[in-house]
Amino acid sequence: MNGPLSRKLNMGLVGGGQGSFIGKVHSIAGVLDNRASLVAGALSSNPERAKDSASVYDIKPERAYGSYQEMISKELALPVGQRIDFVSIATPNHTHFEIAKSFAEAGINVICDKPMTFDLAQAEELVKVVEKSNVVFALTHNYTGYPLVRQAREMILSGELGEINAIRAFYIQGWLRTRLEVSGQKQAGWRTDPAKSGASGCFGDIATHAYNLARYMTGLLPMQISCHLKVFEAGRALDDYGTAVIRFQNGALGTVTASQISHGRENDLFIEVDGTKGSLEWHQEEPNKMWVRTNGQPHRLFTRDPNAPFMGDMAKASCRLPSGHPEAFLEAFANIYNATYDDIIRKLNGEKFAGKNTLYPNVYDGVDGMNFITRCVSSSTENGNWVNLNNSACRS
Ligand code: NAD
Repeated sequence: MNGPLSRKLNMGLVGGGQGSFIGKVHSIAGVLDNRASLVAGALSSNPERAKDSASVYDIKPERAYGSYQEMISKELALPVGQRIDFVSIATPNHTHFEIAKSFAEAGINVICDKPMTFDLAQAEELVKVVEKSNVVFALTHNYTGYPLVRQAREMILSGELGEINAIRAFYIQGWLRTRLEVSGQKQAGWRTDPAKSGASGCFGDIATHAYNLARYMTGLLPMQISCHLKVFEAGRALDDYGTAVIRFQNGALGTVTASQISHGRENDLFIEVDGTKGSLEWHQEEPNKMWVRTNGQPHRLFTRDPNAPFMGDMAKASCRLPSGHPEAFLEAFANIYNATYDDIIRKLNGEKFAGKNTLYPNVYDGVDGMNFITRCVSSSTENGNWVNLNNSACRS
């Protein structure tokens, strides 16, 4: 829900230069519902490439900046309505904090990719900055935007599966089975570099998505964690495989397993949840189906169907197409943008916006994720010892 705004929002993009991956996805997701236009960018760490990349996005040359600092100062010089209303950050992890902080302090709303920061201290600092500057802050844990993920959340929170006892979340890839990073491949290069990725490789990059999905779907609060991280490709500095066991406050047990070294696996993010009355199973690579099972009854296959009576309101509102026409990654990503736009428009209209427990992942989810990575690394360093997970910032 949002109040009236008689214009589209103005989007800025940092990252997404030639040869990059997720910036392009942000640019598509951001405009998919015709609620925003991409008008400005600081698209690369290389000023020349940043400017050259602008034509790919139809960004006018005068708003293709050589750096994000230049983008902030030149955009602030424009009147509200012309200047960017928000920035999307699609750069490697070690740069998120400085960029997000600078835009937030300039009063510009932020949509940042995950993991939110390089380390936990930065994440906690960013919460303070966001609260003080009162900007809208979204984090693109985009898998929470899938209609059937939202359906699962509605079913679990309404008690349809009973008390939740167990969660198994996985994110399995195979692309780092060899040391791709030594070939100069850009995405592999920074992801396996501790100075750019953070304290963890595989867990920071993809287990955070699986953990966030488990937290979002069930609302359960984590209490303690025991984790083993491993490097299987000799010479690599950061984990390429790991498993964490999580004790939740309600007594449930969860596991998060992530791999970058499983032959043939692409982006196999999947989750299974067991409750006292039923269980469910959802796979990102087949996102328009979800199995729900109860002993003694036929297995139920939920499909993404905005007209079906079994679909909840939030799931229905997350669909754009009738059933049977596949919706996937881009649409789910756009659902995060859409929910964030509602709050940005509230802010522009001078209305209050929630900030916490939002439909879109927010800065507190970012701290939750960084806390998860940090505690996993600590536990693994201590041979899998149980460590407490501070959950004060967590959504329920
Ligand atoms: P990439 O290496 O493909 O692209 C990074 C881009 O950022 C490049 O264009 C680079 O030049 C630019 N850049 C770096 N520093 C910059 C700076 N200071 N100013 C302006 N531009 C700068 O990386 P990627 O795979 O697209 O990942 C980017 C981020 O997105 C990472 O944090 C990653 O974890 C995250 N990511 C999220 C998802 C998702 O599903 N949500 C998927 C992939 C990546």
